[in-house]
Amino acid sequence: MNNAYFDFAAPKNETVLGYAPGSAERKALQKTLAEMKSQMRDIPMYIDGEEVRSDNKKEIRPPHETKHLLGHFHASDEQHVHDAIDAALAARDSWAAMAWEHRAAIFMKAAELLATKYRFRMNAATMLGQSKNAYQAEIDSACELIDFLRFNVYFLTQIYKQQPISPVGMNNSMEYRPLEGFVLAVTPFNFTAIGGNLPTSAAMCGNVVVWKPANTQIYSASVFMEILIEAGLPGGVINLIYPSGPVVGEICFRHPAFAGVHFTGSTGVFQNMWKSIGDNIARYKSYPRIVGETGGKDFVFVHPTANVDAAVTGLLRGSFEYQGQKCSAASRAYLPANLAEEIKKKLVAEVATLKMGPVDNFENFVNAVIDEKAFNSITKYIDIVKSSNGDARILCGGGYDKKKGWFIEPTVIETTDPSYVTMCEEIFGPVLTIYTYEADQWMQALDVLDNTSPYALTGAIFAQDRYAIEYMTKALVNSAGNFYINDKPTGAVVGQQPFGGARASGTNDKAGSILNLYRWLSARTIKETHVPVENYRYPFHQAD
Ligand code: NAD
Repeated sequence: MNNAYFDFAAPKNETVLGYAPGSAERKALQKTLAEMKSQMRDIPMYIDGEEVRSDNKKEIRPPHETKHLLGHFHASDEQHVHDAIDAALAARDSWAAMAWEHRAAIFMKAAELLATKYRFRMNAATMLGQSKNAYQAEIDSACELIDFLRFNVYFLTQIYKQQPISPVGMNNSMEYRPLEGFVLAVTPFNFTAIGGNLPTSAAMCGNVVVWKPANTQIYSASVFMEILIEAGLPGGVINLIYPSGPVVGEICFRHPAFAGVHFTGSTGVFQNMWKSIGDNIARYKSYPRIVGETGGKDFVFVHPTANVDAAVTGLLRGSFEYQGQKCSAASRAYLPANLAEEIKKKLVAEVATLKMGPVDNFENFVNAVIDEKAFNSITKYIDIVKSSNGDARILCGGGYDKKKGWFIEPTVIETTDPSYVTMCEEIFGPVLTIYTYEADQWMQALDVLDNTSPYALTGAIFAQDRYAIEYMTKALVNSAGNFYINDKPTGAVVGQQPFGGARASGTNDKAGSILNLYRWLSARTIKETHVPVENYRYPFHQAD
């Protein structure tokens, strides 16, 4: 029976808990952290609603304490990928046919479970597995993921309501069908919320999904899967597997029922995916949706009229929170000569106060980078500067140590060359490079900024002069998908700053917004004529 219009009201953003000393949430989180750390987790795949284990177990260790073993996950082989696709396709018809209010209820329940019963377990998993401090985990694995779930339910309700006009004599309507096949969600290590959002946003629209997270995020991804199952997600709708990237790509992109990929990760991987999909285009039943958010070389441009303390704070938080491993993190800054010395002095003094260490000591602002590969790649850039012959120098930081974990000091580099390698390439670590321009040449400096990197993800300007703010906002129109005025370039909130970049940074489909959901729908237009005409002749061709 379908005899009511079900509505889901606009949600409010989940309140961020502060974890101040003595607070109930701090005690609860510390307790859960200690419990999880003392347990050895055995993490299965989830295919067709069943826990699946393999003979190939891989270790999970905290990036900040590599001697400690948190548990294992069961790696997937080619057969598991095929099984996940088959399970998804078998679940498709019932899932697509489920009434919206029932589908939505599952995700609303998941959001509530995450906000209450599972909040500390999810945050503790993100802290241990991905080396986030308590606050960074709270804004990611609790608040942002809760917001993604609740806001997407609201946005989808808005889409379903959009109907064409029906003049007298007919009924017109739009059905928002899911895609005809399965969606592949491939997710990165750095946000538990992205890991949760990419499969659920497609599933919410009625699609069935194969979800492959980064190996370094499996520890928290599996907690989210437990929540989805408790919330009532039917078997086969989202199948969580752990194959290597190339294996999942090779099998999924050759499958005739491949209907779309929802990806977040590095630019090179996304470009290769696009090529494989192109190579296989004649195999598919429909044209696959390709949605990808990828790398960035995010900037902070300080205008000669900027508030110095605001700029320093934006640079510090924007560059070094979560060790610079946010796709939105500031990694190149342009300072005007009239303010440069003061900004550098204050920045270096503030960076010196940042404490670095494991996540269970809540005083630490900086924790470890994700793994050895990242450690080697980031420190390579620091070493280039250390051996440079004058065009760059380390202003502060530059130290690194892997004895206990993958620790790299927050590092500020100063260069005299705006095209210096660390001004151009994505480093994805706690490394900021500064270039100083002549204050009266700020318009030319904007051109340099705009043409320095292939990316256009996030960027921030700091200025007090409103004419300058207006000029910069226009001049940098294509340089960032998320543009900030007098604020750091990180910390986008669902429903407030829809997130995504252009140019090489991605397809800019704005995760957690109504725009993104359209990509997982294929509309069918239905016209019904009440009294059909019974004669083909029009008046115009009758004889005079
Ligand atoms: P990554 O590209 O190494 O991995 C992302 C995912 O792709 C992982 O699940 C990985 O296993 C998989 N993968 C790797 N090779 C593959 C292949 N050949 N075929 C199929 N899948 C493959 O990225 P990462 O290190 O997890 O994340 C960091 C990157 O993600 C950075 O470049 C960052 O800028 C980007 N990122 C972008 C956004 C955004 O919204 N624009 C958000 C977060 C991260």
